[in-house]
Amino acid sequence: MKIMHHLTRVEFENNSDKVVVLPIGSTEQHGPHLPLGVDSYIAEDIAKHLAKVTDIIIAPTITYGYKSKPLSGGGPLFKGTIDLNGETLIHLVTDILCKFARDGFNKIFIENAHFENQAFIEEAMDLATAQFPKLKVVQSNWWDVLDQKTVDEIFKDVPFPGWALEHAAITETSLMMYLEPDLVRTELMPTEVKAQALPYSVYPARHDLVPDCGVLASPVGSTKEKGKLIVDKAIEGFIKIFKKEFN
Ligand SMILES: [Zn+2]
Repeated sequence: MKIMHHLTRVEFENNSDKVVVLPIGSTEQHGPHLPLGVDSYIAEDIAKHLAKVTDIIIAPTITYGYKSKPLSGGGPLFKGTIDLNGETLIHLVTDILCKFARDGFNKIFIENAHFENQAFIEEAMDLATAQFPKLKVVQSNWWDVLDQKTVDEIFKDVPFPGWALEHAAITETSLMMYLEPDLVRTELMPTEVKAQALPYSVYPARHDLVPDCGVLASPVGSTKEKGKLIVDKAIEGFIKIFKKEFN
């Protein structure tokens, strides 16, 4: 497995034809039962599973992300969410993409695991590829590549609350049970939670919009088998993207 931080300069140079996978997560509250690093662990661990089936270079994970929003992550109301301004994230990702391009790496796959990052990553992709015409950057995430059958299977006993409210809920808890079981405090899982999705957003963020536990839908029903299913399907989806976009 080619983890960039494990490679020497020469080993790195000799692999410039490979796809670089850049995992991006966050440092964000994930309720009483999951650690602050959930998104970063999920991004990096899925990249490591992906590296078992395809020859890639895993770049160091970006472990901070754009601001958590109240109705997709609990927002700034909770301690432990240490986030970046949009501009900071755009600059950070643009700089990293441009430096890889300057070093001759022209195939980059951004594997994002924090919902709110998406638009800022895309801005960076646009800015970097405008500067380096040979550079190709693709962004995806584990939830967008799951097919309907998989989503139905994961939510066969409970209703699917929508991806925004799936924060620290069944999918992320199941993923952590499979990928980082020692970090899940199963006994602290909140049982009855239901945040109400709104057809608008409002700032400043208010406590009455977000359940006190910081979880937006109940994680009850999470299993490591569901976590494995998500990882396997995400990898299948990523491989399809690789074939289409990077041959
Ligand atoms: Zn998350």
